[in-house]
Amino acid sequence: MSAGVVYGIDLGTTYSCVARVDRSGEPEVVPLSDGATTLPSVVLFVGPDDYVTGEPARRLARARADDVCALVKRRMGDGDWRFVSSGRAWSAPAVSSLILRALVSDVAFAAGESVRDVVITVPAYFGDEERCATVLAGQYAGLTVVDVINEPTAAALSYGFARFNADPPDTGPGGREEHEDVALVYDLGGGTFDVTVVELADRRVSVVAVDGDHQLGGADWDEKIALHLSRRVLDAHPDAEDPLDDSEAAQALLLAAEQAKRELSDRTRTTVRVEHDGHALTVPFSRDDLERLTAGLLERTVTLARSVLAAARARGVTRLDRALLVGGSSRMPAVARRLAAELGVPVELRDPDLAVAKGAALYGEKKAIERLVLADLVSRGQILDGAQPDTAAPEDLAAACRRLAEAFGLTAERVRRTVEVQVVNVVSRGFGVLALDRFGERSAVFLVHRNDRLPIAVRRSFGTVRDDQDVVTVHVVEQGGGVESTRVDDVKIIAQADITGIPPGFPAGTPIEITFRMGFDGILEVTALHEGLVDRPLTVRVETSAALSQADVARERDAVARLRRREG
Ligand code: AMP
Repeated sequence: MSAGVVYGIDLGTTYSCVARVDRSGEPEVVPLSDGATTLPSVVLFVGPDDYVTGEPARRLARARADDVCALVKRRMGDGDWRFVSSGRAWSAPAVSSLILRALVSDVAFAAGESVRDVVITVPAYFGDEERCATVLAGQYAGLTVVDVINEPTAAALSYGFARFNADPPDTGPGGREEHEDVALVYDLGGGTFDVTVVELADRRVSVVAVDGDHQLGGADWDEKIALHLSRRVLDAHPDAEDPLDDSEAAQALLLAAEQAKRELSDRTRTTVRVEHDGHALTVPFSRDDLERLTAGLLERTVTLARSVLAAARARGVTRLDRALLVGGSSRMPAVARRLAAELGVPVELRDPDLAVAKGAALYGEKKAIERLVLADLVSRGQILDGAQPDTAAPEDLAAACRRLAEAFGLTAERVRRTVEVQVVNVVSRGFGVLALDRFGERSAVFLVHRNDRLPIAVRRSFGTVRDDQDVVTVHVVEQGGGVESTRVDDVKIIAQADITGIPPGFPAGTPIEITFRMGFDGILEVTALHEGLVDRPLTVRVETSAALSQADVARERDAVARLRRREG
């Protein structure tokens, strides 16, 4: 009997990585064919039918800039964006699918495993469209995307949050511990910073609040160091040209700066050799120097951490148990030290580059076990097909967990916990409809707000604008920027549908009742009901990216399937 492995994939902005849970229940990253654990998320289109991914593509990023697509994650959800190369145009899901395909074929090659079912991670701030685009990328790659999971949640799981893959402590006969845990996930990567409060309460893991700065990351630290080095060069050789004014010299300086920064995570001093304009200079550089130069950058992250904690408090989450560090830049010792001083809770640093993929693998294992428990309960007629495990009678659920535990050599309590703890999302952006305001202007009215907890069901009444109005168009919108704005130009229309065939005789102002429902899967269902058509409500399910039509999707899927991957 096999649980059918569900792999976890961190589809990152700069690097991607695959993990699975091993026989002992520990998550592990699956090495790729070149022995590396991560694949650069870069695609080089070699011609109309061939592509190259990963390190070889990245190395050619400069030489073949027009054919190399990097940072595609930033384009997810932007339906108008295309990467054009060799006369063909590729959407963000299509390019991402090539990265996924490369990962999966590498895993098949290196580990002899065929990957089909996956959980893919997404930033917590991703909206509906970006999540749908991510699922689409998986489908284009021929994968079954069992679920998407927020990156901070995945990171927290890999740190043992919610003790997903551990036996719960023995709480004595009949004792069931109601564990609560609140973590701040601090994710400082190369070019982005995300900070999130994640909570375990009522057997639910959810993101409580999200903040960050997508223009702040390790590269900013490198720049500060490079500036310092260029000043040292000019101090020693006042007649030399400023290395930062020369693009090649600036690039070399940045690389040296990054190298020094990494070294100073392990020791307290180093030297940097700078060659420029016929001069060579050895600059001593210490961890103290680094921390002094970059204190302002670190403070910016601390300010954002404070703000996310304030947002969590506003939502009633006042405790904080620990801080978890994610992203390569969180290896700088100043990060943990500063956060510990600021927050007064333990700060943990473990596998910061791989934590997200590992957490996704743990969640994947949960999904696999859950599927088996559900199948067992359904086959015995104890729940209906499609129902959740918590709809089963407690004794039936316990028996199903026992049977499964026996089959897999696990403890029943662990299986039960894996099934019971639910990973839920909050809404990352506001959703609403367009309506006329009191000045007769079209504006957005939000029914669902950022950080509202799922599941959601909200209802609100609007009115028709004319007597005998026979058609009402419902525009479903998503918040565009970081804050809700009622301006039509600031929102994204994600779906549009008409209530048609309204019989005459209804005056202007006749109520149209709009209901927004969003489940744990983040799929939005909008129902619009006109008094004259009570038996025929209009229902719109927003689950595929409105920006890519079904015809586009079908065409692209075929085109992607025909592409051949070349080894660099
Ligand atoms: P990521 O996007 O998570 O791979 O993070 C990459 C960033 O982490 C880059 O800015 C690296 O310079 C930085 N980084 C990686 N390792 C270290 C280290 N040991 N110390 C400091 N920064 C590091």
